[in-house]
Formats: sequence, structure tokens, C-alpha cells
Amino acid sequence: MLLINETFYSIEGEGPLIGVPTFFIRLTGCNLRCTWCDSKYSFSGGENRTVESLVEEACRYATRTASITGGEPLLQNDVYPLMYKLLEKEFKIILETSGSISVEEVPTDDNLIISMDIKTPSSKMVEHNLYSNIDLLGSKDYLKFVISDETDYQFAKVMINKYPFDGEIIFQPEGGRNLKELTEKVLKERLNVRVLPQLHKLIWGEMRGV
Ligand code: SF4
Repeated sequence: MLLINETFYSIEGEGPLIGVPTFFIRLTGCNLRCTWCDSKYSFSGGENRTVESLVEEACRYATRTASITGGEPLLQNDVYPLMYKLLEKEFKIILETSGSISVEEVPTDDNLIISMDIKTPSSKMVEHNLYSNIDLLGSKDYLKFVISDETDYQFAKVMINKYPFDGEIIFQPEGGRNLKELTEKVLKERLNVRVLPQLHKLIWGEMRGV
């Protein structure tokens, strides 16, 4: 059984599958409290759902892409059978995790992409980063830094040098602000990272369930 905050059908907002129609499963609860969190509503509430009912709902949509998000989805044990069942049904899964909990038990599968945050100083959650997770990621996975200010930017640069990583590195401007400034800085400094805004926010703003 899983405590689910919401499910909805929308487009993937960031990462390699940006723009792809996706079934979203948002789990309730988070162990962190990032200062700029845009999904505080996911900290509590929702309803208990079985893995089977979620997979059945996912199969009703015209997509074979599912995003498992939160909150922090790895806090609930039944997220693992959920991932296995979706893979059995030939879904491509994007697992969004804060990087504060081990990803060791996450299925290793080409169709499962882990999108893991490295929390930047502006989040006030840096001490929760579990850097040993980086070694558990593969080239299909991605590391995401939310960049709010110059301190975050410099921190992210130090981290990508300190922890070499085969997959994609994403710099996401916090709240969609300073997208141009961040892009120009990355180009000027020739950083091998992708700068991505959150597409759903460009389309719908702060609206929930999209
Ligand atoms: S990890 Fe995500 S859901 Fe949790 S507080 Fe931070 S931004 Fe919000």
C-alpha cells in the first residue's frame, strides 16, 4: 500500500524526456524541507492506494512513460514493487529523488531513469546530500542542481568536478528565474551541463496537477 498525494497525466517537465506525455504518481511525505520547495502540499494528505490500482490507472493513458515523484518517493517501501510492476508493463520510468536516501534498491533497468538532486546551499538542505549515491547512478541517469544564486552556481561547479559522473548534469534555475543569465554563464565557462527550466511551469505557472 502507498500513500499517494495525487496522480495526473501531463507532460514531463524536465530532463531527457522533457515534453513527453507522462503519467505522474506523486507520493506523500518528504524528509527534507527545501526553502524553495514548490510541492509543500505533498508533505501530507492523499489516499492509500495499492500498487495494482496505480498500475491499472497508468495503463489507461496513451503513454508508456511514468514519473514517480513526491515528496520523496523512496520513503515508502511499496515504491519498489510499484517500479517493478510498471517495468513489467513496459513503462519507461523517471524516478525523482532528493538524493538524501540510498538508491541502492532501485531496480537497475535501462527503462528506469533516476533523476537525483544534489541539494544546493540555498535549499538549506546540503547536509542531507548522500554523495555515495552518485556511484550508484549510470549513464542513463541524471543529476540535478537547482541554482538560485551565485553561491549555488559555484557549489554546483565544485561538486561536478569532485564527483565525476557519466550521466547528464542538469542546472535548473530556481523558480525559472535568471534562465538567460545562467545559460550565458554556462556557455561562457564552457560547462558540459544542460540548462533546463521546468517546462510545465512555463506553460501553466504554479498550477497544481499538471
Ligand atoms: S526534497 Fe523536494 S519535495 Fe522535499 S522539500 Fe525538497 S523540493 Fe520539496
